[in-house]
Amino acid sequence: MNEYKGLRDQDTNLVYFAPPRAKTGLFNALAFAVVAGLSLLAIVVLVLWTSRNAQLSSQKVAIENLAQTIGQNTDAIIKQADVVLSGIVSSIAIEGMAPEHLKSMSRILAQQLNQLPQVQDFIILDQSGQQVLSAHPLAPIMNTVTQGSYFAHHMTSTNPESFIGPPQRKRTNNEWVFTVSRRLNNPDGSFAGVVLARISISHFISLYGGLVVGHNRTIALVMDNGTLLWRLPFRDSDVGTSLSKGPLFSTYLKSRDKGTEIMRTPIDKVTRVVSFVRLSDYPLVVYVGNSQSDMLQEWRRNSVVFTFVVLCLSVVLMWLGHRLFTLLQNQERAAKQLQETQERLVRANNALELLAREDSLTGLNNRREFEYTAEMEFKRALREQHALGLFMLDIDYFKRYNDTYGHQMGDDCLRRVSSIIKASVTRPGDLVARYGGEEFVVVLPNTSTIGAMQVAERIRSAIHDAAIPNETAPLGILTISIGIQVLVPTEGDSVKTIVAAADKALYQAKTSGRNRCVMA
Ligand code: GH3
Ligand code: MG
Ligand code: MG
Repeated sequence: MNEYKGLRDQDTNLVYFAPPRAKTGLFNALAFAVVAGLSLLAIVVLVLWTSRNAQLSSQKVAIENLAQTIGQNTDAIIKQADVVLSGIVSSIAIEGMAPEHLKSMSRILAQQLNQLPQVQDFIILDQSGQQVLSAHPLAPIMNTVTQGSYFAHHMTSTNPESFIGPPQRKRTNNEWVFTVSRRLNNPDGSFAGVVLARISISHFISLYGGLVVGHNRTIALVMDNGTLLWRLPFRDSDVGTSLSKGPLFSTYLKSRDKGTEIMRTPIDKVTRVVSFVRLSDYPLVVYVGNSQSDMLQEWRRNSVVFTFVVLCLSVVLMWLGHRLFTLLQNQERAAKQLQETQERLVRANNALELLAREDSLTGLNNRREFEYTAEMEFKRALREQHALGLFMLDIDYFKRYNDTYGHQMGDDCLRRVSSIIKASVTRPGDLVARYGGEEFVVVLPNTSTIGAMQVAERIRSAIHDAAIPNETAPLGILTISIGIQVLVPTEGDSVKTIVAAADKALYQAKTSGRNRCVMA
């Protein structure tokens, strides 16, 4: 910018340089903006990160609770059927499998079947695997032990606990079921057969289907060995799939009965937050999974709004900051310019005063120049022991002149008298100056008393001879009185004493009749 280049002062010929402060200000403002921007960004990131974690953990609690609830529910659903099975086991252990007993049991089981929507059928097999009872009136008769691993299990194991079998399709309607079974003992404790309940998988689908919307959330019931009983969203082909190689069974369930982990589920290869829980009474596992992106849906919406608001605020702040900065910069610049101008003015004034050596009215040297030159000449005369002459000149009756002809004419008259004096003093080293008002002073270096007297007389007579009218003065023309001092100065002298002596002589010239030259 132009104002920060050097400035040349016309009067002093000096060049001023203003320090480039605006650049430092700009740098500071930029640094401030960067620091403020970064801080704001850090705050935004911190807030978003914290709220994201809060949202994730609240969502995590929600799916943990869901897994827990479904686990307890499933436990209860199976238990209802299992209670009926254990009743049959006790009854047969006491009464055996006589046809009349089976008949009365068949009636009871048919009633139970009506009460329990999750159970498709109650079936009793004898020790050879032959079906001896089915609670379902339309069920075909199962005739072999090959129908389930449960038969082999109960035949070989005396364990009285119930056994969960893998999923099977029912031959009558192609529906998926899984079995809960118990071993039947004869009164002597020997193997008498198996009693089993077929649990309908579609019961669970209709119970929990409403909880799964879209493909990101999933709920599943899995056997302890990793065989999938059902999974939501439901696909027929998933039933019976083995999840034993997946992270849930190969890692997490090995050490814990419940937990929540981020994992890729093997069925659809989607990464989810999965909460799992092992059922308390049966070797089954329930898991509920949800994708992180689903869990963060609400957070994303809020984040967009928050970020937008922060951005708008930043823009407003930046605009205000920019305005403030410009304002301050302008103010600073104006103040600096003002100061520079003031400094220049002061310097220029000083220079002007030094340079002004001339009296503006008469064009003669002014009093300052007289004092300066007189001092120089005095010192020189003292040094070289030369004579120094000094006149004090005063116009006679000049007040009357002014009163008669007016101030304007008075000024003209002063100019005329000045030029006459100037013309009468011819040596180059001589100095003629206006001392003040209508008083003049002449300095004559290296001039003898006689020489000085001659010059004074020349001035006086020249003015007299000019015959400038001053009608109220006694002679009717303008005259002048001159006091003269000429000396070789000694240490005790000064310009002041010389002027005082000349002034005194002038006074004598006035009192002794005017229009004359008097030597001190
Ligand atoms: P004297 O013979 O005793 O010197 O009488 P005078 O009237 O000249 O008295 P004095 O020297 O005291 O007068 C000064 C007068 O000179 C006062 C003023 O009217 C006039 N005067 C001084 N300076 C100027 C000036 O610059 N212009 C004009 N027109 N008149 C001036
Ligand atoms: Mg006077
Ligand atoms: Mg006078």
